[in-house]
Amino acid sequence: MNHPDPLPPGAIDTHVHSAPDVIERKIDDLELVAQARAAGMRAVVLKNHHNCTCGRAGILNRLFPDFRAFGGLVLNHAAGGFNCHAVDAAIRMGASHVWMPTKSAANHQTQFGGRGGLTIMNGAKLRDDVRDILRQIADADVILATGHLAPEESRILIEEALAVGVKRISVTHPEWGVTAMPVETQRTLAATGAVYFERCLVSAHPGAERGILFDTIVQQIRAVGVGSTIAATDYGMPQFDTPANGMRTYAARLRDAGFASEDIRLMFCENAARLLRLPSPPHDLAPQMVHLPSPLRRHTSQLP
Ligand SMILES: [Zn+2]
Repeated sequence: MNHPDPLPPGAIDTHVHSAPDVIERKIDDLELVAQARAAGMRAVVLKNHHNCTCGRAGILNRLFPDFRAFGGLVLNHAAGGFNCHAVDAAIRMGASHVWMPTKSAANHQTQFGGRGGLTIMNGAKLRDDVRDILRQIADADVILATGHLAPEESRILIEEALAVGVKRISVTHPEWGVTAMPVETQRTLAATGAVYFERCLVSAHPGAERGILFDTIVQQIRAVGVGSTIAATDYGMPQFDTPANGMRTYAARLRDAGFASEDIRLMFCENAARLLRLPSPPHDLAPQMVHLPSPLRRHTSQLP
């Protein structure tokens, strides 16, 4: 039987853009966490294209010990691109994610009619500084996310990442027009067991740039599997709904598309928890009752 609220307790949104940011956002970090907690969610990942979000996540975790906020770094121009020093600092600040370039990716630039931008390739080979960063990610055992790289770049990156020992990988919105990864490639990567696909509702939002049909998300989940799917919103645009409402809408639409409650729990709660290494709560346990260690406490002891 379906839960009356389509969003199961303990959901995690692994892709949210809240303020402060360099552009206007729907809500700020405090509103985000308040709304997510009210929706019975247990965690969010703060993403900012131009600034590391680890410090913000640390403060939120002090304020809300019954909830988890995660942060990380996007390797755009503002971070210095493929800058090992910025990656090192983010890791020591408790980053959960290191994202490959998004707005600064050559693929992103090209697809929106621009020029230049960052690519991970040096001719036919992976850039040496990118390989070094993959080693940092492997050593720290943080999550590698593909950002807005071209799908073929992402495939090459992931193969190399697995070869150097990266254990946790998230392919960022593989259905979106700009980062559209062929389903066959997704299936091959899913078979490694180390790769999750973060399928974002924003990609199918009416008016989204290079948007897709919601049915494309549904088809790709069916083709690649619920076991590797993480449902996230990528919300933050002022004209869209709040991330918490987005999660509810997303779950309801997947339920309407025929996914079972257990599938929805995997895609909204379990898979993200596994990627983020959060303990798996019993099904009926409200997330407010789960006490988790503060990442700030864990990482301050490692700082100089
Ligand atoms: Zn995003």
